[in-house]
Amino acid sequence: MDTVTLHKQYMVNTYAPNLVLTRGKGCRVWDAEGRSYLDFLGGIAVIQVGHCHPKLVAAIQKQAATLMHVSNLYFNEKAPRLAAKLVEKFGVPGRVFFCNSGAEANEGLIKLARLWGNATGRYEIITMRNSFHGRTLAAITATGQTKYQKGFDPLPAGFVHADYNNLESVRAAVTEKTAAILVEAVQGEGGVVPATPEFLKGLRALCDEKNLLLFCDEVQCGMGRTGTWFGFQTYGIQPDGCSLAKGLGGGIPIGAFIVGPKVSEVFQPGHHASTFGGNPVACAAALAVIDIIEKERLLDNVARVSELMMNELRALASAFPWITEVRGKGLMIGLVLNHPAKAFEKALLAKGLIAIATADNVIRMLPPLNITQGDARDALRIIGEAAEQYRP
Ligand SMILES: *Cc1c(COP(=O)(O)O)cnc(C)c1O
Repeated sequence: MDTVTLHKQYMVNTYAPNLVLTRGKGCRVWDAEGRSYLDFLGGIAVIQVGHCHPKLVAAIQKQAATLMHVSNLYFNEKAPRLAAKLVEKFGVPGRVFFCNSGAEANEGLIKLARLWGNATGRYEIITMRNSFHGRTLAAITATGQTKYQKGFDPLPAGFVHADYNNLESVRAAVTEKTAAILVEAVQGEGGVVPATPEFLKGLRALCDEKNLLLFCDEVQCGMGRTGTWFGFQTYGIQPDGCSLAKGLGGGIPIGAFIVGPKVSEVFQPGHHASTFGGNPVACAAALAVIDIIEKERLLDNVARVSELMMNELRALASAFPWITEVRGKGLMIGLVLNHPAKAFEKALLAKGLIAIATADNVIRMLPPLNITQGDARDALRIIGEAAEQYRP
């Protein structure tokens, strides 16, 4: 049986994929018919250094042939090295817990906030409307979008939603039971919406004033995506912790949370665990991703290509009244339409560009951080041609 038939018959029916992708290199992927596409989805902000970067492939192959898994009952040589690197990037002394996904990383931060607040009766977590934090029960409850929650009652207690980029709304949600605020520096699934500097700085001040924990969900906007290692760093604030996944392993599943000095000693033996967490192959991949971002100076490349894309897209938008805004940070770019974006997504795909609609009316672009200016210009040409022919 062919791939599509097998998928449709045997896989739980949660997704509706439309292409069989068989191979990738750099910024491109190929389908089973041999057609190539520019990949501006990047496995949803996962393919940080392009498809099959030779150094990443070599690091994975080497570790897989040396030691694949030992559990957390033993040290392995990769996990502590990766933890040290991540703490260095985080900017203040801290510790790292490794897991396997973004939802699991957020779940860990939520548990940690509850344990921290337990002695003083604090357990509430404030999150933002239109946020996205993953698909476990706690994570969909943290997620400020009812479409992910519908039908899954009863949801866990202790989550309160406030308006993104509205400091007063968050302040009004704080009670004597509040333990933490969890926020994305740039909302991804919510439509590529950057926080305003006043908002993030205001949240930091609010948390200091009320003795709350500020946690950033960096699952999508972290690992260099916005032009700094973490999205919050473009705002010059320091959270008490953050979650990571997606781009961390450049295509290998790995999640993590980092906690700074205020809460780095909260979790003690027995409080939390994950069988695969800190798996040496996953950690070797993440170490290679960090090494590639550093050696190839990819944060500079993000700034360069981002400027090119933002400028060109804004020029394009001014010629088409149905494109109402170009927004984002670094290589997390949203093209906001005045109508549902699915049809334009299809028009782009027909011309060989994979860029996916999110939040109904936003085309989201998340190319690899090592995208060349040439590939960026190819994408811009496709977007321009598609826009010319498009009749909304
Ligand atoms: C994708 C995403 C998650 C969930 O990550 P999974 O690995 O799918 O569990 C959490 N937070 C943000 C901001 C995300 O974009």
